[in-house]
Amino acid sequence: MEQVAIFILGTIIGSFLNLVILRYNTGQSLIKGGSRCFNCGKNLKWHELIPVVSFVIQKGKCRQCKSKISWQYPLIEILTGIIFLLIFINFLNQSYWLLASVYTLAIFSILIVIAVYDLRHQIIPDGLVYAFSILAFLSLFRNWFVSWQIEIENFDLVGLLVGIIFFAFFASIWLLSRGKAMGLGDAKLALGIGWFLGWPNGIYALVLAFWLGALVGIFLVYFSKKSYNLKSSIPFGPFLILGALLAFFININIYF
Ligand SMILES: [Zn+2]
Repeated sequence: MEQVAIFILGTIIGSFLNLVILRYNTGQSLIKGGSRCFNCGKNLKWHELIPVVSFVIQKGKCRQCKSKISWQYPLIEILTGIIFLLIFINFLNQSYWLLASVYTLAIFSILIVIAVYDLRHQIIPDGLVYAFSILAFLSLFRNWFVSWQIEIENFDLVGLLVGIIFFAFFASIWLLSRGKAMGLGDAKLALGIGWFLGWPNGIYALVLAFWLGALVGIFLVYFSKKSYNLKSSIPFGPFLILGALLAFFININIYF
């Protein structure tokens, strides 16, 4: 029963993340102003804004003008629901489950927004990646919270170095390619991923990101109808984030 509640909570947060993705850097308020249809401007009522359910009932169309609603909305909602559920199950039965769950949920919520924003706009906004890096930095102190012992040897020094090396690595690619192969945003994102996952999960995340990026790149070059070639730029941020997500859930208990 809790599992269902956590999943539903995840889809509601996912719905909010969709709103953040849409309105970030547009000057629109995240709290004020209701949601409207992009095509006809119809103000959406509460029953048209239920995560996933409204999309299914309306068969993915606006009730007034019948224009199609993007698949992005239910996908992000379901994905956030699943991630919330997995995090909850992972930390269940731990004495520190509440703190660890809320912390990890916050981390992945920001990462979802960064990934989709980067896919849509080919840029990683500073505000979001700084927020992520600061949260990720706290992860280096996690043993203080788990053991309730504030001792210097419990500080994750290796994790700190992993993040810094990741940053240096991506920043060099950025410099050498003059911003063409990687953005500086990717370096900032990698810094946070190194701090959050540390050794060895951070390395797994990076390796997975490069493999996934290469596979998708090859796939797009050969199979896509759009004319992709090897010089087309595919944002790397989403792959870093997917790699981090997989590394986190594969080697799941990073708290010990
Ligand atoms: Zn409409």
